[in-house]
Amino acid sequence: MKTVLITGASRGIGRAAAQKFQKEGYELFLICHRDVRDLQEFKGHHFAGDVGDPSFIKSVMDEIESLDVLVNNAGIAYYGLLQDMTFDEWDSVIRTNLTSMFLTCREAVPKMLRKRSGKIINVSSVWGSEGAALETAYSASKGGVDAFTRALAKELAPSNIQVNAIAPGVIDTDMNKHLSQEERSALVSEIPADRMGSPEEAAELIFQLAESNSYLTGQVISLNGGWF
Ligand code: NAD
Repeated sequence: MKTVLITGASRGIGRAAAQKFQKEGYELFLICHRDVRDLQEFKGHHFAGDVGDPSFIKSVMDEIESLDVLVNNAGIAYYGLLQDMTFDEWDSVIRTNLTSMFLTCREAVPKMLRKRSGKIINVSSVWGSEGAALETAYSASKGGVDAFTRALAKELAPSNIQVNAIAPGVIDTDMNKHLSQEERSALVSEIPADRMGSPEEAAELIFQLAESNSYLTGQVISLNGGWF
């Protein structure tokens, strides 16, 4: 049975990914932020903690003997002017969205090297390449995810480990629940597909990357309804 570790699996894209991998017969290792009961719909191994905490990630990885797929999905947004952002707010965005990937990959790669195979899939954002006003820290963290993905892909290609990312546009999850109905409509009117994406569509692409051939690596694949 193949194994997958998914971060941020309690809701949104991560939850849809966990549902997809479970349906496809994978053994699940799932991380949520606060309470393992948030993962009770799934079989497998459940952990609650902060993906930006090195000792938490190490303790999770110590429980996993063999890993086929790592999905780095957990992330947070921050909206506001850069000059109003505190150091702790900045640090929290970078740590959750980018440093977490260093922490999980540092532990996962030796497990994959032992088998000479593995897939790492990172969840970036359209803002990683485009940049968004009022989301400078978020955009910087996701730009970091894009570069991290391309660089690590080159480092690991000789060892038959593939590293790719998906860069969603707007997916209908809690991350966008702060938007008013008017703001949602205005946003959707900018998207050629005339709708938000669903978490299931993002999960489907993550799964396709997990099952893709070994020549596909170092790519940041947009999933945005033609938006950018
Ligand atoms: P979401 O808010 O529903 O889910 C985020 C998940 O990350 C939650 O499960 C949350 O508990 C977890 N998480 C947050 N901080 C954590 C921490 N410190 N430790 C452990 N877990 C933590 O949002 P989502 O839309 O499902 O987001 C998933 C990913 O998709 C994120 O990386 C986000 O940046 C990215 N993304 C989302 C959109 C969108 O429009 N929804 C667009 C582009 C990219």
